[in-house]
Amino acid sequence: MLPNIPAVNIEQLYQIYLKHPNVQTDTRKLQPGDLFFALRGPNFNGNQYAAAALAAGAAYAIIDDPAFHTDPEKMMLVNDVLQTLQELALHHRKQFSIPFIAITGTNGKTTTKEMIRTVLGAQYRTCATVGNLNNHIGVPLTILSIPRDAEMAVIEMGANHQREIAGYCTIALPTFGLITNVGKAHLEGFGGEAGVRIAKGELYDHLRETGGTAFVCSDYDYLLDMSKGISNIITYGQGEADYTGKPISGKAFLELETTETGHISTHLVGDYNFPNVMAAIAIGLHFKVPAEKIKTVIEGYIPSNNRSQVVHRGSNVFIMDAYNANPSSMKAAIENFAGIHAEQKVLLLGAMKELGEDSLKEHQALVDQLQRTHWKAVILVDGDFAKVNHPYIFLQNAEEAKKWVRQQGLENTYFLVKGSRSVGMEKVLPES
Ligand code: ATP
Ligand code: MG
Repeated sequence: MLPNIPAVNIEQLYQIYLKHPNVQTDTRKLQPGDLFFALRGPNFNGNQYAAAALAAGAAYAIIDDPAFHTDPEKMMLVNDVLQTLQELALHHRKQFSIPFIAITGTNGKTTTKEMIRTVLGAQYRTCATVGNLNNHIGVPLTILSIPRDAEMAVIEMGANHQREIAGYCTIALPTFGLITNVGKAHLEGFGGEAGVRIAKGELYDHLRETGGTAFVCSDYDYLLDMSKGISNIITYGQGEADYTGKPISGKAFLELETTETGHISTHLVGDYNFPNVMAAIAIGLHFKVPAEKIKTVIEGYIPSNNRSQVVHRGSNVFIMDAYNANPSSMKAAIENFAGIHAEQKVLLLGAMKELGEDSLKEHQALVDQLQRTHWKAVILVDGDFAKVNHPYIFLQNAEEAKKWVRQQGLENTYFLVKGSRSVGMEKVLPES
């Protein structure tokens, strides 16, 4: 198709990168001196912005459309910008001999990654995925953001189809890996729950093939099963494990106790965060972070971005977990909420998206589960909640739910706010 494009000389590109290590793919965020990669998306062609990137001070632009090759000095024409980005990331990765810790799983990846960053960061120069940059662009960008003097790298890997994690492993070459859990999410892309297990298991496959080390939560039999054959396995959990701890139940915020660290009070909502925190403790202890330091940094960690935040509004308490939702995280959040001691409780639940043909069944199972507990009120918002049988209030969107909250004028009430990202349940929170 493009016969005259020479193969990329990654070594040559790497020399350019070393002079300009800030990689940018979005001209709106571009800083002078950045290295611009003109990626294509379903609705845009980054090549169109290459000239503007240079005008805005980019040091160099990598493009793959000859029609936009207007500056031979400062533009490098390649066959495929995304592939070049990934190859450059691999080249950079190979310069390091530090631990590379990969994290995947259905729920809790970002929380676990942030906890690990916090714990390892107490002792080592630690570079971790920023926010949720865990896809085919985010993984290489994360790798390229690792400074030469880093001592630990922590990389979140998300997936919604098979072979995705395997692909990320070929550029991140993780030496350590952790699967948080395997549950129900993105069932469409994976071909059901068994498919999810195979896909997440690709991280274990990589560790098995390369003699890497897995951190495994031994409370999940399926993880013990899936991890068989990996030469180094370090376990953590409530039961028998290399590192053990226990959550203290009935609290709004997770509290836990481990043999090494003693009692720890976190700012994370929900006992379901226990394995996430325990993973970070196990990794910290494995890498010889002193136990007192681990306790101090975990107690000081405050989550952001609607990930299990507790927000007070007058006498009301809103547990904001509106960042995402799927059947397993919904179940965990609701069970936890049911266990909190409070005068009255209201559920504000947005639909769970991307469940494919299981969607109606999963929404029905959820509302059936809800009926086993007494709630002050249950508000179901958007999507397939419209199509299932339940005795609750259904509202079209988060704005309607916000109005409902305002009109009720409830006091001394706990609200659990959760739903898939696209429902935007965070909008229900009153301004003040
Ligand atoms: P994403 O797929 O969006 O990257 P993630 O796996 O990074 O998600 P987090 O952002 O850490 O997950 O958490 C998202 C939500 O998942 C939390 O707010 C919580 O409701 C739920 N969750 C977190 N940890 C667990 C867990 N161990 N078990 C069940 N649900 C969990
Ligand atoms: Mg995440």
